[in-house]
Formats: sequence, structure tokens, C-alpha cells
Amino acid sequence: MIQTEVLVLGCGIAGATTALRLARNPQRKVIVVTRDPDLEESNSRYAQGGIVTRGLDDSADDLVADILAAGAGASYPKAARILAEEGPSLLEDILVKQAGIAFDRDSQGELEWGQEAAHSHRRILHVGDGSGQAIIIGLINTLKNYPNVTFVKNATAVDLITFPHHSRDPLAAYQPVRCYGAYIFDRKERTIHRYLASATVLATGGLGRIYRNTTNPAGARGDGIAMAARAGARILNAEYVQFHPTALAVPGAEGFLISEAVRGEGGVLLTPDGKPFMAKYAPEWKDLAPRDVVARAIHHEMEANGYSHVLLDICSKMDPVSIRSRFPNIYASCLKFGIDITQEPIPVVPAAHYFCGGMWVDEWGRSTIENLYGAGEVTCTGLHGANRLASTSLLEGLVWGNRAAQKIESLLDQSSTTDLPSFEDIPHWDESGLIADADPALIQGDMQTIQNIMWHYVGLVRSADRLSRAIRELRHLTNEIETFYRNTKLSDGLIGLRNAVEVAFIVVQAAFHNRQSRGCHYRQDSVIFEGDRLI
Ligand SMILES: Cc1cc2nc3c(=O)[nH]c(=O)nc-3n(C[C@H](O)[C@H](O)[C@H](O)COP(=O)(O)OP(=O)(O)OC[C@H]3O[C@@H](n4cnc5c(N)ncnc54)[C@H](O)[C@@H]3O)c2cc1C
Repeated sequence: MIQTEVLVLGCGIAGATTALRLARNPQRKVIVVTRDPDLEESNSRYAQGGIVTRGLDDSADDLVADILAAGAGASYPKAARILAEEGPSLLEDILVKQAGIAFDRDSQGELEWGQEAAHSHRRILHVGDGSGQAIIIGLINTLKNYPNVTFVKNATAVDLITFPHHSRDPLAAYQPVRCYGAYIFDRKERTIHRYLASATVLATGGLGRIYRNTTNPAGARGDGIAMAARAGARILNAEYVQFHPTALAVPGAEGFLISEAVRGEGGVLLTPDGKPFMAKYAPEWKDLAPRDVVARAIHHEMEANGYSHVLLDICSKMDPVSIRSRFPNIYASCLKFGIDITQEPIPVVPAAHYFCGGMWVDEWGRSTIENLYGAGEVTCTGLHGANRLASTSLLEGLVWGNRAAQKIESLLDQSSTTDLPSFEDIPHWDESGLIADADPALIQGDMQTIQNIMWHYVGLVRSADRLSRAIRELRHLTNEIETFYRNTKLSDGLIGLRNAVEVAFIVVQAAFHNRQSRGCHYRQDSVIFEGDRLI
């Protein structure tokens, strides 16, 4: 059993920012846990386009207006205001001054502001097209300088420790639900440990991997959302899964993202025979329309005409030298797969990209469970509403990571770890009698089944028939996987599979019950809302 003041689950931008803010106080003891052997591995690492801030001649009001417009009437205005007002100075303080991240500048030394879809200003800061990598390396290297922060890698959180659920005291049932840490699976030793903490921060990222086509890396399987749901935390907006319009469509490179910034710099979508089509779907914004509009337009073109993909042309809009300097990673990655983006258009398809819903948290990162906080993609602050505005999620992780830490800091000042239950109060993880190792073929097969169900029935275009089919199939699979889980020794893959089926079910249920098409939740059998207008 390990005891700390603050347990941070996840070390992408949200977890790393939370830990960094807390670490400034040398008295604070913080443990940061990540399931990956590599501290940098996370969705944050793969962010390409950059991070939103305030551009020239820009204002907080303009950013709020763009966020609310993209969110299709479901974004929480208070969250948008917090992000727009606090975000730019936090970015400067934490990312530039503390973590030393050098965002790109032009030949005059001025910051180079990128343009992205549905933004009314050039306001995205970037480091080439590897912004996430630069940010996460900067944050983690800075954190390593703090002796009061301990990293635990290769360790998967299995479940939150909550009372009354894990309490031995029957009278705990009459108290509010409280979180006291988590059960953590050591992947190397294959042992499960109790981590006891006065405050626990969920920063485990998103769930793209429950879909067949996704831009997300392997760890994005919804672990935190499933843990929060099992603990009884409120989950919100789960139907709003954002699909990115442009993932590379070349065998072997599935899911590799072609950043929105490519369209921001003039890239145009074409049918395979070279005709632009976005003006038909979004006459005002064309290729820079919000993501949901572009992704559905591509989906419609593909479905109606039997195309396997569409094309994204940047080579006739930008000269080769500029393409290579603005998009070095995209250029190199496409070239590896035989596509020279300075000479030919890029084959693309939509892919699941971002979870706009999650564990509900308030403006201070507090969940509905006492002592349980959250930040980043695992949470729903309401900022993204029904559709996220490009490049706002990194900043959301930074702002809410910082806010959750501030709130925890002020509460820890007033309380002490003696408020924690004793070791004896919390049961050991019980694996007695389990001897069989999880069969990897079963894990892989079940995972692929979930991904196919989600892609075909709970994807870009939904209907009552598709969703009820998904519910029936996932219900059956849930029973199978729960039995598998109960009868087998724990492994990271098995933990992920159980979580994946649970969050898939959460998403499909939310999608089934919400009959209004809005933002990235599109039902072909129902009414469509845009903003507060029925269209
Ligand atoms: C390809 C791609 C490009 C993107 N581009 C942009 C962009 O340009 N701008 C932008 O704003 N956003 C972008 N996004 C979205 C953005 O990167 C993410 O929303 C954001 O980084 C999420 O940060 P996070 O800290 O919440 O989660 P993550 O960065 O995903 O971190 C999650 C952490 O939790 C850990 N974890 C997960 N499960 C467990 C568990 N059970 N136990 C222990 N640890 C666990 C992981 O190992 C990881 O450390 C992009 C996303 C992708 C995939």
C-alpha cells in the first residue's frame, strides 16, 4: 500500500500540468501514474496543429464566440469564457516560461499564428506540426526537476477506491461517496497495489480506440471514463464523439492524422477525380467548415459515390519548400507510405478523434464524487459542447489541470492526511483462485468486435436501428467480457477490454436516447439542431 497526498492518473498535458502546479509547493507529495512504459506516450504527444491562444487583433470575446458556434449550441459559455480569458496567460507562464517551449516564429522573430477551421482569427501556436511532442517533452522534463513528484510508469489504474463501495464499514453507506485513491496494476510484476490519496485526479485521456478507424494511439481506450462510471460519477455528453475529417487512407498508415492546419493553409478537399466539393455542403466556410460538417460531407461523398477515400490537395496551394517547413512530420510520414505531398494530393478518410463528453467536472475540476478531480479529455467541462473547436483541447487540459491543482492545494492546506481511512479499512485486490492468464486472441478478437460495432452503428451517421443493434451486440459482449474478467488473472489488455466495452455502451446509450442531431452526433432519423435553430 502506497500513500500520498495527490494521486494523478495520467501524464498527458492535463495530468502533467496538474502535477506541475502542485509541485511548486515543496511540501506537497504527488504521485503521477501512467500505464505506458514511456512517460511521453499519450494523445497529447500526437497533437499536430497546435494550441489555441489569443492572436493579433483577437479578443477573448471572439474566441468564446467561435467555441460556442462550433459547439452547436451545447457548449457551456462559462467554460468557454474561462478558457478564453485564462488560457493565453497560462500558456505563457507554464508552457513558455516554465517548460521552455519555443513556439514557431517568423523571420522577424514574431510568433507565427496558425489558422484552423472555424476560427475567426489566426491564433494557433505550433512547433512545426509536432506541437504535442514538443509540449509534452517540455512539461515532463520540467516535472522531473521536482523531487516531490514521483512517476510510476508501466502501471495501469484498474479502479478508483471509493467509499462506501470499498469500505468494510456498513455505516459508510450513509456518507457521501468519496474517493481515496486507486487500485493500480504493476504491469511488470503483475501485482495490484492500493494507492491511498487525499485527492485523486483523473487525467487518463480519451476513447478513440473503441472505434475501428481512429487517430488515437493504443492507450486511448476510455479507462478513466469507465472507472469514473463504475464509481458512480456523473458522465455527460457521451454521444458527442468527434470524427476528424482527414486521416491518411493508405494501407499500413491507418489513423495517421493529416492536421486541420493543412486546410488552414489553403488545402482543398477533392473527389478522387479531382473535383472540389465542400462548397456544396458549407457555402460560407467551404473547406474550413467545423469538423463535423466536413467529416459528414466526406462520408456522404464516399457513401453516395462508392469512393474508398477522398483527396486533400495542398501541393497546388503551397510551394514545396513551405510545405516541408510547415508540415515536416506529415511530409515525412506520407513519403514513407509513398505519397509525396509536395507533388500529389493526399488520400484521406474520416476517423474517430476526440471525445467531447466525459466525467462531468465543474470549473475547478471537481467531479460529483468527493476528493475526485479531473482534467483533460477524460472530463466534460462543457467547453466543447456537441463539437470541439480545433486546437482547444490542449489548452483545456492546461487550464483545468491548473485549476484542479489550485483547488486541491487550497483544500490540502485546510485538511491533513489523517482524514484518510486506515490501511485496514481498504480491502486488498482479491485475485485468489485465479490461475488462468488472459488469452490474447480473445482480447484482440473482442476488441475488434467492439471497434467494428462502434464504427458501423455508432459512427458519423446514426439511426435508431443502428443504435439498437449496437446495444444488443454490446450487451451480449459485456456479459462475455465480464465473465472473462472475473475468471482470469489481470493484465493491461484485459483491463482495457473491460473498460472499452463499458465506455462503448455508455456512448451508444447516450446516442440512442438523444434523438436530436447536433454537432458531431448526427441521427439520420431525427430532427437537426444547429445552434439553437431547428433546421
Ligand atoms: C493525432 C492527434 C492530433 C491532435 N491534435 C491536436 C491539436 O493540434 N491541438 C489540440 O488542442 N488537440 C489535439 N488533439 C487532441 C489532444 O491531443 C488531446 O485531447 C489531449 O492531448 C488530451 O490530453 P490529456 O492529458 O487529457 O490525455 P492524454 O494526453 O491522452 O494522456 C492520458 C494519460 O493517461 C494515461 N492513462 C490512460 N489510461 C490509464 C490507466 N488506466 N492507468 C494509468 N494511466 C492511464 C496515459 O498513459 C497518458 O499518460 C489531437 C489528438 C490526436 C490523437
